[in-house]
Amino acid sequence: MSSLWQPPQFPDAAFTASAAAVSRALGQAWPRLDAVAALLSPAAEAMLEDMAAAAAERTLRHFGRARLLFTPLYVANYCENRCRYCGYAAHVTMPRRKLSLEEVAAQGERIAATGLRHLLLLTGEAPRRAGVDYIVDCVRLLAPRFPGLALEVFPLATAHYGAAVEAGVTGLTLYQETYDPEVYRAMHPAGPKADYAWRLDAPSRAAHAGMPSITLGALLGLAPWRQDVLALVAHARYLLERFPGVEIGVSLPRLRPHAGGFAAPHPVADRQFVQAILALRLALPCAGITLSTREAPRLRDGLVGLAVTKLSAGVRTSVGEVEGSEQFVINDTRSVAEVAAMLHSQGLQPVFKDWQPLVGKAVPRAA
Ligand code: SF4
Repeated sequence: MSSLWQPPQFPDAAFTASAAAVSRALGQAWPRLDAVAALLSPAAEAMLEDMAAAAAERTLRHFGRARLLFTPLYVANYCENRCRYCGYAAHVTMPRRKLSLEEVAAQGERIAATGLRHLLLLTGEAPRRAGVDYIVDCVRLLAPRFPGLALEVFPLATAHYGAAVEAGVTGLTLYQETYDPEVYRAMHPAGPKADYAWRLDAPSRAAHAGMPSITLGALLGLAPWRQDVLALVAHARYLLERFPGVEIGVSLPRLRPHAGGFAAPHPVADRQFVQAILALRLALPCAGITLSTREAPRLRDGLVGLAVTKLSAGVRTSVGEVEGSEQFVINDTRSVAEVAAMLHSQGLQPVFKDWQPLVGKAVPRAA
């Protein structure tokens, strides 16, 4: 099946730019894709300070000093997929479980006690063990406590996204992993996730169903990073154009060690990672940018002052208290209070509750 939207494919030559072209792109409020490619070029890597200054100015203008804090809650780690890079993949031997609804409620209480009111609910992809009905039950249970409640689960049909929104979901996080169809096929050899087009269209289905907020992303390390970041920008712009009432955000998780022991075929160095985040801010000045605990505290602390607007904190990637059930190794183990203190020390304002859902849900418009 082909998808509604096709990511443009960019040859390596698209990222050849002069310093002058990078400077021009820095001054543009809404750079065209060829200018964004200049911001991702090797020439721009030598101009990171200029990029950082421009990104910080855009972030301050559009977001002020507020930074949203949230935490993930893994409720099930059964998975039928064989993603080659993931510790939850079907072929990895590890403790598997699904939280009972009583356990979900208890975890919700534990997280609410930290002051957080924005939660990301995660599962693997095993609809017969942890399917839509279970996810919606979890949402009904947690929604009264968490006015900001996002899903990071397998791609759903439009009606199922609608049911989730009806139950209290306010956001969707769904990463394409890579926009390169060949690499995607190689990295997802079996299971429902092998269907590239079904995943690529999921954000559009969610937007049609009335999802107020959608975060897209690419998992850096799988494919050449410049191409994936530029395709992510194109995807975000497509959705912004088609669904102007939906809040579109972006994220760039980077491959971390996990239980299956997978080495990134296209590793991304810290300096390039910073360049990619800054380029995202300049390409999508109004988009929230999320940075996960896959990254080290020093890097997170630096980027939150420049471009990042949403941070996870107090993170566990295991299901409940079960040791050995982690999806990946986290790099920033700080508590919610410690991350909030770091933000205060930079003159930033930690926000525990996203107010958007309280002032009315977005009204999507289909093209
Ligand atoms: S990345 Fe997601 S879908 Fe793939 S194996 Fe891991 S949990 Fe399953």
